Amino acid sequence: MQYLHAGRIMTPNPTRSNGRARVLVVGAGIVGTCCALWLQRHGFAVTLLDRNEPGSGCSAGNAGILHSGSVLPLATAGILRRVPQMLLDPDGPLVIRWRYGLALLPWLTRLVRHATPAEVTRISHALSGLLSGALDATRALIADAGAMHLVRDQGELYVFQGASAQAQIADKIAVYREHGIKVTELNAAELRERVPALSSLYQHGCYLPDSAFTTDPRALTAALVGSFVAHGGTFERREVIVINRDEHGGVLAVTSSGPLSGDHLVIAAGAFSKRLAKQAGIDVPLEALRGYHLELPAPNVQLCGPLIDGGMNFGAVPMAGSIRLAGTVELAGIDAPPNWHRADMLLPMAQKMLPGLDGSNGVRWMGHRPGLPDSLPMIGSVPHWPNVWFCFGHGPLGLTTAAASGKAIAEAMAGLAPGLDLAPFRVDRFSSV
Ligand SMILES: Cc1cc2nc3c(=O)[nH]c(=O)nc-3n(C[C@H](O)[C@H](O)[C@H](O)COP(=O)(O)OP(=O)(O)OC[C@H]3O[C@@H](n4cnc5c(N)ncnc54)[C@H](O)[C@@H]3O)c2cc1C
Repeated sequence: MQYLHAGRIMTPNPTRSNGRARVLVVGAGIVGTCCALWLQRHGFAVTLLDRNEPGSGCSAGNAGILHSGSVLPLATAGILRRVPQMLLDPDGPLVIRWRYGLALLPWLTRLVRHATPAEVTRISHALSGLLSGALDATRALIADAGAMHLVRDQGELYVFQGASAQAQIADKIAVYREHGIKVTELNAAELRERVPALSSLYQHGCYLPDSAFTTDPRALTAALVGSFVAHGGTFERREVIVINRDEHGGVLAVTSSGPLSGDHLVIAAGAFSKRLAKQAGIDVPLEALRGYHLELPAPNVQLCGPLIDGGMNFGAVPMAGSIRLAGTVELAGIDAPPNWHRADMLLPMAQKMLPGLDGSNGVRWMGHRPGLPDSLPMIGSVPHWPNVWFCFGHGPLGLTTAAASGKAIAEAMAGLAPGLDLAPFRVDRFSSV
């Protein structure tokens, strides 16, 4: 079977199906990699494709936290009330580059629409469902890859400062308890017991014992890809440019080094999924929620686990031999160059929390969280083209929920009843709104 591509007649590479259905997964970030592994476990012959090295996109530079309790969407009525103040502060936890503001209006309008109390309740339940199996699904893959040395079970500590700290914590704890998430409230002395270096500005906090973190997110994805290949999977460095139907009812991917065909194709290209999704006939309101990190190689401060300023929405996380400061959101599109001030400002913010923190020789990074306006990823197949699947849009929770999402895709593709209700994650849910 031959195809015309860029004026040349080409023949797709032979596949190694051995009678098994062949799946192409586009994107070897943490999400695509977990899809590939779970599909492999369900007996599919999987080829994982990425234009870059595995795990080198957003999955490389995140804060590494496997959250147990992040059930609230990006937008709630409380957060929206604080938006005008946030937007006027260039060092705030959320900024919009005004030049990009007009292009962002439809997305922001949708964001506001999903911030009503009824929507927040619906979204929290969906996120809670996704999170409930997330850590087990992640651990299963990491253990199988022999990479448990990259994971620490040391919980997650949120701290708050200022007059509203107690009220903010009470709200947070009420949400956790509603969703059955383990949490302990901590007073000033208990906080200092856990983090002796913490500034006295922080008098209130809460601890989530069931969270975990990785000391090297990039190495974790690389280890998972290594495991996928060791179990017979194929990884190839190729950019997928166009997807199309092939004449046998399968999917043809035109790539940077020739076409490939599969019985199914999963789009897991993170914040870059929009173009391919459109080729599958669905216009998704996917935005890049840009985030930064600053990695400090000689921090001079000891942390036993992730420490998060709940008000400013950034954290300090111990990595292998360093502390990574990460967080905040910048809306400026996918193509704008990084605004390195957003990374640099993390240092004074963190030094307010940890006054002894040594900021010398910090290394800056920027990445694109793939964000949908209802804070839920898309997990499922395209109704009018059922062998094309979407698995993207995981926003600030991609590391945490990648394995649960990949497991759900594999179960659905295998025709098994998925352990997760996929209705809230439908891929066409914005098409009719
Ligand atoms: C500062 C920051 C901190 C964060 N902290 C956390 C955290 O603590 N916990 C958590 O759970 N999440 C966190 N996140 C979110 C998390 O990092 C993301 O949700 C996650 O990495 C998204 O993974 P992904 O695989 O969808 O995307 P990516 O990692 O970006 O992977 C997408 C891949 O697709 C490839 N690709 C794109 N287009 C094509 C194409 N056409 N052909 C071939 N390949 C293609 C890219 O090269 C890339 O490798 C954080 C994010 C940021 C920015």
